[in-house]
Amino acid sequence: MKPMGPIPPGYEAEDGMLLIGGCGAAALADEAGDTPLFVYDMALVRARITMLRAAMPDGLHLHYAIKANPFPPLLAAMTELVDGFDIASGGELKHALDAGMKAEAISFAGPGKRDDELRAAIQAGVTINLESEGEAARALRIGEAVGVAPRLAVRVNPDFDLKGSGMKMGGGAKPFGVDADRAAALARRVIAAGADWRGWHIFAGSQALDAVAIIEAQAATVGLAARLSEEVGAVPPLVNLGGGFGVPYFPGDLPLDIRAVGLALEEGLTLVPAALEGAAFALELGRYLVAEAGVYLTRVIDVKESHGERFAVVDGGLHHQLAASGNFGTVVRRNYPVAIANKYGLADGVEEPVSIVGCLCTPLDRLGERVQLPAVEAGDLVAIFCAGAYGATASPAAFLGHAPAREILVSE
Ligand SMILES: *Cc1c(COP(=O)(O)O)cnc(C)c1O
Repeated sequence: MKPMGPIPPGYEAEDGMLLIGGCGAAALADEAGDTPLFVYDMALVRARITMLRAAMPDGLHLHYAIKANPFPPLLAAMTELVDGFDIASGGELKHALDAGMKAEAISFAGPGKRDDELRAAIQAGVTINLESEGEAARALRIGEAVGVAPRLAVRVNPDFDLKGSGMKMGGGAKPFGVDADRAAALARRVIAAGADWRGWHIFAGSQALDAVAIIEAQAATVGLAARLSEEVGAVPPLVNLGGGFGVPYFPGDLPLDIRAVGLALEEGLTLVPAALEGAAFALELGRYLVAEAGVYLTRVIDVKESHGERFAVVDGGLHHQLAASGNFGTVVRRNYPVAIANKYGLADGVEEPVSIVGCLCTPLDRLGERVQLPAVEAGDLVAIFCAGAYGATASPAAFLGHAPAREILVSE
């Protein structure tokens, strides 16, 4: 038997059936038409955002990094709940505008922006988070060509990283942003060229569960933004502090202490250095807002034994939920929280170890390894939790030619 990650709060059962947004999992699969499917519970997203805003300093902007989950109905609901969207491609630009987010609340980061993507964003009035001097020159040229003063922020590759983060995005040689020692010069250049300078974007890492590490990174971020702004000689309209708030996916993971982070940030922002007086501050979060609000439901096709190990083979797999297979940014494979949705929360407690494997013909396709679950039979519905972020759009959907997963949003 191997342990699994903690099932997120908010998932109840009724007569042994997992409820998502008050609806039974089997009924949701019927409503979607078939398995496999992702179900996202907007009520849980709303509750998460309310809790986060209560913990964070007043006036702090909250942005949603839509690459975590760009499902259109979810994005449309998000426009009412957050202050801006962060996007990372021309495709996401279209998703964000289609969802109804206003252009001036959208910022566009990411290396390798093509000219046509820059042009579409500049014409729409979206802020470009500049990733390099070369990109700045292209954005200025395109602004001139289309007769628009481009809204430009400088993404800084910070001279520190977010300790303990699952994915480091700053510190040392990185493809993201402009090294801190050249960032002020670039900001001065875009201001001199007549661009609408929007400030700084400083993103140090992702998936951190350690409040102290986040507090330290945020303090360093505010300090760096102050130093750079002083060098520029102008107050930035916005300092995007990045995010990096993680969620517990694996055995032993504990939720981030959001109150501690909020209190420290409040203190840090009440006494900002003069160079930042009047600046607005933003957090940009992806997974923290949506991961725990999603469940991937997949049906057991076959149950078999091999060398004493029991396997439940399901109709889904890593082509929809790559992260649960341990092949998306993790070094060691560990179990996501999983359950049998139609045998959920039962009191009799007869459980046995079983491996949940996907339908792809590759040994990588393991969604749960020797997890302790109620006796599994063909036709059962397996629930993989923490599937609201980096699932449907972060998995190799075309691999092996299966149909894409269905997606539904409940409690809109
Ligand atoms: C991916 C990304 C995010 C979101 O990361 P999460 O870990 O999902 O919060 C935020 N900002 C930038 C620049 C990113 O690349």
